[in-house]
Amino acid sequence: MRSSPDPIHGLTPLHALPSYLHADDLGPWGNYLQQVDRVIPHLGHLARWAETLKRPKRILIVDVPIQMDDGSVAHFEGYRVQHNVSRGPGKGGVRFHQDVTLSEVMALSAWMSIKNAAVNVPYGGAKGGIRVDPKKLSLGELERMTRRYTSEIGIIIGPNKDIPAPDVNTNEQIMAWMMDTYSMNTGTTTTGVVTGKPLDLGGSLGRREATGRGVFTVGQEAARRIGLEISGARVAIQGFGNVGGICGKLFAQAGARVVAVQDHGGTVYREAGLDVPALLSHVAENGSVAGFAACESLAADQFWDVECEILIPAALEQQITAANAGRIKARMVIEGANGPTTPAADDLLHERNILVVPDVIANAGGVTVSYFEWVQDFSSFFWDESDINQRLEKIMRDAFASVWTVAQDRQVSLRTATFIVACRRILHTRELRGLYP
Ligand code: NAD
Repeated sequence: MRSSPDPIHGLTPLHALPSYLHADDLGPWGNYLQQVDRVIPHLGHLARWAETLKRPKRILIVDVPIQMDDGSVAHFEGYRVQHNVSRGPGKGGVRFHQDVTLSEVMALSAWMSIKNAAVNVPYGGAKGGIRVDPKKLSLGELERMTRRYTSEIGIIIGPNKDIPAPDVNTNEQIMAWMMDTYSMNTGTTTTGVVTGKPLDLGGSLGRREATGRGVFTVGQEAARRIGLEISGARVAIQGFGNVGGICGKLFAQAGARVVAVQDHGGTVYREAGLDVPALLSHVAENGSVAGFAACESLAADQFWDVECEILIPAALEQQITAANAGRIKARMVIEGANGPTTPAADDLLHERNILVVPDVIANAGGVTVSYFEWVQDFSSFFWDESDINQRLEKIMRDAFASVWTVAQDRQVSLRTATFIVACRRILHTRELRGLYP
């Protein structure tokens, strides 16, 4: 349903949907809007600016035509959304996935605004994506698609405008192609236009592991506060790529038992704990956890019934829903993925006293080290890995502590508390900058 103009002032009322979205295809963006609604009563005088949070600043939809290896021409749909740039340039990853939609990219860009403000790095929020199954492309096709997409969004990205990074199905090589394409088009080698690059091209030590390390760090902080020992705790992980794989390794190193892992190809289970390094090697060789020896294989849906203390969704959004939240046995859910829990499931978990450490704080380690990478690129002076990890852990622990205090003081969930901290920062800068003209 579209909202109609306010009859008194002739203005569009608050909460109106932008004309390019319909109420019935809100998807993840609808979840985000509900999360914002929950925070508005806590914003005090800044609530006046809250509508800013509900409207992405800029949306670019691009056609990405490429020549396929067989000589045919294929067209892919690409997006780049800059949700908010009040606090600094847009920042957020690029996702290649067959189910990417505008609603999804809008939500992901908004969560980047919240996340960047929550850990107080000087960025706004942005996100990009191409609706494609990259596993069906040859390496040459993947490179041509990445380069054409970069050229198409080149009008709005830049080291001081909007800085992409890896996300689902994108990696260091793709960042190298994006950096090169942008640099060729502008005539200057511009390493700071993307983060998550290879080390030899201005990448940062520790970036590849940063998101998983951050998930582990906030997991430790949260566990301590609810009296849960990591050593011996059972952990179930959905998604075993960059985020799930690294945090799985760190939890196992800390003595946790990673009992279940699910990815797009299968679900593996072992009550005594899976051999995580061996599972990582198996995935590197075979592309999936499926077929791993020395474990049981479960049907995908059984994953939600696994007995565990810590559940880590680290795949895609909208995985924990009202349909499966009642089955979750964990004491704590740490959101490695962006948007894995729907608002209805959030409420169910809250009622069942299961602590949810939300994405907007839990997976902020990646963008934090992306910020370090960007700073290093500007200064052309590179830090060592122990420096990076120490700085990362301090930012994550401090950010988590602030959010925890707000949650306790206001008796709200950690998600709402993180939104309170972040939205206040965003809207305060909005207010300071004012409207133009
Ligand atoms: P990735 O491509 O490295 O791994 C994704 C994993 O999810 C793979 O193991 C894949 O098999 C699995 N998966 C895909 N579809 C699935 C399904 N239907 N069921 C179960 N598993 C499925 O991606 P990533 O970088 O690890 O990102 C994972 C999540 O973390 C995403 O939500 C992403 O936005 C978020 N995230 C990533 C970063 C980062 O730095 N990479 C930072 C913040 C948040």
